[in-house]
Amino acid sequence: MEYEVRAESFRLEINENVYQRFSAYIESYNYNVESGGILVGILDPSHNSIIITDITEPFDRDRQTRYGFHRMEKGHQEKMDQLWEQSDFKKTYLGEWHTHKQKRPCPSNIDIKNWIKISKKNIHNSQRLFFIIVGTEEIGVWMVVHDMVKKLEVVEN
Ligand SMILES: [Zn+2]
Repeated sequence: MEYEVRAESFRLEINENVYQRFSAYIESYNYNVESGGILVGILDPSHNSIIITDITEPFDRDRQTRYGFHRMEKGHQEKMDQLWEQSDFKKTYLGEWHTHKQKRPCPSNIDIKNWIKISKKNIHNSQRLFFIIVGTEEIGVWMVVHDMVKKLEVVEN
């Protein structure tokens, strides 16, 4: 199954294997603490799409609490570098994901502040960033546009 999200000028696809990982959280994760990681993927200019191909998942040193996931650079950055090299430098950092113990996930004020901060830090890198929250029943995808958080629409197939 392909998971697609619509935005004004492009399409975001979540690869099968990544979608399966998120589905596995929905099906079997206890949500006692939050999990998360980074989103990695490729740009496909010919189809005007951005494809999330890989994610990282929590490492031991990350801080996981009931209402927070705070990741360290170590581990996630190494996996990113590895994917970048293995893909002939095509795979790139596309954003962050984490879980919420909510059926329909909604970003907290802290999430919104973090996402805006991350997007500002990334501004030199003209690339679009995405922020995913995996809830207990649904997945939500957001972007930061002009310092505002905007939820993307899922395409009905
Ligand atoms: Zn959150």
